[in-house]
Amino acid sequence: MSRRGTVLYKTLQGHWIAFLAEVSGGAEPELPRFVIEEVESFLKCGILANGFLRVVCDGCQENRLVAFSCKRRGFCSSCLGRRMCDFAAHLRDRVMPRVPVRQWVLTVPHGLRFRMAFNPDVTGLVLRTFVSVVSRWLRRRARAVGIRGLLKTGGVTVIQRFGSALNLNVHFHTLMIDGVYELRLGGPPIFHPVPAPTDDDVAAIAGAVLRKVADKLAGLDDVAEDAAVAGEPLLAGLASASVAGVVATGARRGGRVGRVVGPVRPGEATVVGRRCALVDGFSLHANVRIAANDRDGLEHVARYLARPPIAADRLTALPNGNVALRLRRRWSDGTEALVFTPAELIAKLLPLVPRPRKHVRRFHGVLAPAAAARSGIVPRPTAAEASKPTAPTGTAYRLPWAALLKRVFLVDALDCPRCHGRMRIVAAVMEATAVERILRHLGHEPRAPTLTPARAPPERDLVVDEPSGDFVDPPGPEDFPA
Ligand SMILES: [Zn+2]
Ligand SMILES: [Zn+2]
Repeated sequence: MSRRGTVLYKTLQGHWIAFLAEVSGGAEPELPRFVIEEVESFLKCGILANGFLRVVCDGCQENRLVAFSCKRRGFCSSCLGRRMCDFAAHLRDRVMPRVPVRQWVLTVPHGLRFRMAFNPDVTGLVLRTFVSVVSRWLRRRARAVGIRGLLKTGGVTVIQRFGSALNLNVHFHTLMIDGVYELRLGGPPIFHPVPAPTDDDVAAIAGAVLRKVADKLAGLDDVAEDAAVAGEPLLAGLASASVAGVVATGARRGGRVGRVVGPVRPGEATVVGRRCALVDGFSLHANVRIAANDRDGLEHVARYLARPPIAADRLTALPNGNVALRLRRRWSDGTEALVFTPAELIAKLLPLVPRPRKHVRRFHGVLAPAAAARSGIVPRPTAAEASKPTAPTGTAYRLPWAALLKRVFLVDALDCPRCHGRMRIVAAVMEATAVERILRHLGHEPRAPTLTPARAPPERDLVVDEPSGDFVDPPGPEDFPA
């Protein structure tokens, strides 16, 4: 299906202007710039009428047009899908050694989710604390079975912002090497696997994470966070509604933002499933283990971690104008899909946009970019991979096109679909009349989709007797690979 035919695209194209009008009541929208840019870029992503590259294959004369991408990180399924594949392949080929890996998933209480959504310092603090507690446990476990020496751990975290219901749920998926590396002078590090954690171990780790996070948060200056929340009242309102799992529309605008920020008080951790524990709103799951040589399994889990919040094929337009989101896994109450009005769907998307210039993936310990032991641990590229060209190398166009290449919708667009030769970029067409002339000539839609203006009466008239987008928290670990 073409880009402009997707349900997500049509929803934003048809309702974005009306949404802005409704939430801002005619005034300037109070959404932060990065959120508005996310939507505007998404609406241009992959649309030939906004400009394109012409590429040709010298081998077979195949030629094609490649639209520019938005390269955004919030909800663009195309761009996030591309990142997902790149990340998973990178992890498999260049980062994870052939050793067992365990997935540790930490979710936090609602109040903390909200704080982490607005304050990257809080997110970083919770993540560092979590990883250090798990690392310490791994080293202790290793010593308990007689492993001595200088022991190091390693892992990678994907910070996800969403839950299965498109709710704002900042949480961590951490792939930890399931053992320790013994660092040695004058020799490569030696890997030692450690026995799997028991259910009680997982509960103890969850409890330790909670206690340390509570300690550190108590000493944190939250001026930056307050400023962000105060400066972005509309986004804060949408975020707090999303965290709490209620429908927010622009009607909340202007009221004081209800912050769901309670103090976290250490309590008793409870085992609620296999290697799964709950304590005061924190949940920790550690029951997914990937065997040392299960490279497909590793890539599969990595893709799952880095997936977009909405897979394009999960949204369906309903006849009454609403949109259904099919769940990946049915909830225990039987719910298989959620229904949103267009405005409700937009309200869910906006808090999912990560703040600019903040990494959503972090490497830990021996896998950290600056770790001294890293080069002795990560897999080496095979000879075939190392020799594979990653970019065109002809001096005539390499430098001028380097920046453009990064904006190309699919880098694979340079792989000739007919003969699998390397295609060459012959032109970048961005000037409006040239774009339109070429698209007309080639029989493509020459104009970008126009955004539907806000109408009166407002779109709530579209809402008929469908159930609303209300939802309950899904049971159990909502973020596990199928
Ligand atoms: Zn995009
Ligand atoms: Zn070709």
